Amino acid sequence: MDSAARNPKMDLAAIFDRISAIGAKGGEGVTRLAASAEDGVARAIFADWMTQGGARMAHDAIGNQFACFDWAGEGAPWIFAGSHLDTQPRGGRFDGTLGVLAAGCAALDLQAETQAGGFRPSRNLAVVNWTNEEGARYQPSLTGSGVFSKTLPLDDALALRDGAGITLGEALAAIGVDGGTGTVPPRPEGYVELHVEQGRILTEAGRRIGIVEGTWAARKMTIRWMGRAAHTGPTPMADRRDALLAAAQGIAAFETLLAAHYPHLHRSAARLVIEPNSPNVVVERATVWFELRGLAVAELDRAGQAVLAAFEKAAADTGTRLEIIADTLREPAGMDSRLMASADNAARACGFEPLTMRSVAGHDAVALQNSGIPSALIFIPSVDGIAHHPDELTHPDDVAAGILMLTTLLRRLAEGDSHAER
Ligand SMILES: [Zn+2]
Repeated sequence: MDSAARNPKMDLAAIFDRISAIGAKGGEGVTRLAASAEDGVARAIFADWMTQGGARMAHDAIGNQFACFDWAGEGAPWIFAGSHLDTQPRGGRFDGTLGVLAAGCAALDLQAETQAGGFRPSRNLAVVNWTNEEGARYQPSLTGSGVFSKTLPLDDALALRDGAGITLGEALAAIGVDGGTGTVPPRPEGYVELHVEQGRILTEAGRRIGIVEGTWAARKMTIRWMGRAAHTGPTPMADRRDALLAAAQGIAAFETLLAAHYPHLHRSAARLVIEPNSPNVVVERATVWFELRGLAVAELDRAGQAVLAAFEKAAADTGTRLEIIADTLREPAGMDSRLMASADNAARACGFEPLTMRSVAGHDAVALQNSGIPSALIFIPSVDGIAHHPDELTHPDDVAAGILMLTTLLRRLAEGDSHAER
């Protein structure tokens, strides 16, 4: 148990309220898209908070922020803990932000213990804010963690464009991130991420702490139907090649086919861009972002082939042409078993019986784990499972439980206790 006099719950409430106000508009949730002006303000608040707590700030060229506590000196291994401060449009306050700030609270508590002389870490600790986890403004998601773990080339990431044509590099430069600053820590020996569950499993099981053993796979397809622009009035019906009609048929076929044959896969068509988007022009291009999520890659392969055939049929039936703009598979991750055991022990030491579970969503911890950095992902409950919505909520008692458990785990990992069998 913590012997420190500080109250992490109180620390968190103050900083959480400050950051939650950045990008908040009335009852419409928080809009703090990656590398936006709002993101820049949130980053600055986070950096100030950590600096005042004794951290050294550094960021890399993709804007990942590292609040470094160089406890064990140069050459010592590193432990990372964090998440992301960017949000979806009209998103919730807890997704990502809670993980960064909980890690910050834990680090400040451990820093206080270090200064009091009661704690002698053999590892350095960095609290990390990963750039563009959400993938709302720039796709793919998990951009910063992908660049750090070298699964996404830096130049490719900087060249990503948002809907207005602004590159991620330009957007970062506009908020003061133009190349790296400070000494960025090397690949860590472990990464721990606390995140809200965004589902109802923990609540239904009556547990406060979830330890993620693995994630679902995700297949993400960006599909475009190419038609031909024409006047919506005089153009004879037989001459029209309507890309929006093709997309509508494609979306309907996607839903019908998967509901009938793969009902346990999670499916969505959640973004549609039509061009030229005028009431008087038959739609020339319709681009749709589809997602399929499931446990087994082989099943996503089969389901994906079936829906691609349905998309081809929609093109044939409407006289349009199908283009596959992107078709990517995120493999299911198995999280690190030693870190899972450490997390399990830390939770039990704090009096919680953790639930071992799977995550449907991807998180930065998954990107790092898939690149070979041992990673743990810890969930705390989301009220009614609401996520990516202004009503997103995690009860203060559950937040406090998560911070207590995270602090205990990080203390042990910073001591170099990878099994933490105490
Ligand atoms: Zn998140």
